[in-house]
Amino acid sequence: MELRIDKLLAHMGYGTRKEVKKLLKSGAVKVDGAPVRDAKTKVRPDEQIVTVWGETVEYKPFIYLMMNKPSGVVSATEDAVEETVVDLLEEEDRAFSPFPVGRLDKDTEGLLLLTNDGQLAHQLLSPKKHVPKTYFAVVDGEVTEADVAAFRRGVVLDDGYETKPAKLVVLKSGLRSDVEVTITEGKFHQVKRMFQAVGKRVVYLKRMQMGPLALDPDLAVGEYRELTDEEVDMLK
Ligand code: URA
Repeated sequence: MELRIDKLLAHMGYGTRKEVKKLLKSGAVKVDGAPVRDAKTKVRPDEQIVTVWGETVEYKPFIYLMMNKPSGVVSATEDAVEETVVDLLEEEDRAFSPFPVGRLDKDTEGLLLLTNDGQLAHQLLSPKKHVPKTYFAVVDGEVTEADVAAFRRGVVLDDGYETKPAKLVVLKSGLRSDVEVTITEGKFHQVKRMFQAVGKRVVYLKRMQMGPLALDPDLAVGEYRELTDEEVDMLK
């Protein structure tokens, strides 16, 4: 794998890209013993020795990204026709070969994790772990207390599957209702189909939270950032 030196150092916690650029300019960074000052220099961190002020940079091969997924892109790494969430990443992040942890529908927005850590992805997706996922939804029609009770009991989807209990909170009820739904499963189109089961249609869906991780309100739609070490620890 080849990476730009500034991206590698930022990824390893040596500061923002700007701070790393300064560090490079100062001559602190060497690759296989030779000073590297140009932020654009490509390195192979698994083969070459990178040092900062003489200290070897311990290469971490994992990447963990939080994206505010926009509508209109598919949760896949590659697609012959559609734009994918991986297409939205900078080349330096794509070099780590991250993949989306689970799927959001093409028209769903919000919190999507991307990583190359298969073990963590497996843990988060395992049906046995019941990791809660919270969505904000706009629903056509008036969401009632009867719907809240139905979700609490579990509803029968169009294929006969009975869902586990889900928490439905009505934020605003009217001809169009704003709600928050928390589910602990990940069936295909689950939230939309749960509303279909009570005769209503989801017109907007956004994931807000997955397990302990909430969507960063500073991330505009389509933006992403690396998780902090604390956030990664929380997920493990
Ligand atoms: N439920 C859905 O219906 N769609 C999603 O994208 C996620 C959950």
